[in-house]
Amino acid sequence: MSKKYDARKFNDYDFYDVNEVAEILSVNPKTVRKWELEGLKMDRQKRPIYIHGKDIKAFLKQKKLKRRCKLGIKEFYCSKCRAAVEIEPNSFEYTFTEKCLGAKNNRQVITKGKCKNCGTKVARFWSEQKINILEKLFKT
Ligand SMILES: [Zn+2]
Repeated sequence: MSKKYDARKFNDYDFYDVNEVAEILSVNPKTVRKWELEGLKMDRQKRPIYIHGKDIKAFLKQKKLKRRCKLGIKEFYCSKCRAAVEIEPNSFEYTFTEKCLGAKNNRQVITKGKCKNCGTKVARFWSEQKINILEKLFKT
């Protein structure tokens, strides 16, 4: 996950489809689709699905900020505080996404909570392998 994406390759006022974005950044189209769950805006009114240049740029910029701060196991990245934060007690919840990860096909889990500092909703992805540990950590 230490890959650097060059947002300057995109034009604010252009539109890109998933495959074009994948090609420009040399990533799998599946990765680009996954980014929608992480907050990348996609225009689903049309086929193929279009992504605005300025949206992909904003998304990549945020991704860069996220990468810069290492999260502890109990931490989330808050986009408002722009920092690693802990969540409010009892705000922890999780759901399984439709995605499967890796060779073992572990299901992907999205964990959610509210930033302890500002109350913003925060989310973080995990593999289902980790969910038992996380649940213990947050429910006590
Ligand atoms: Zn916050």
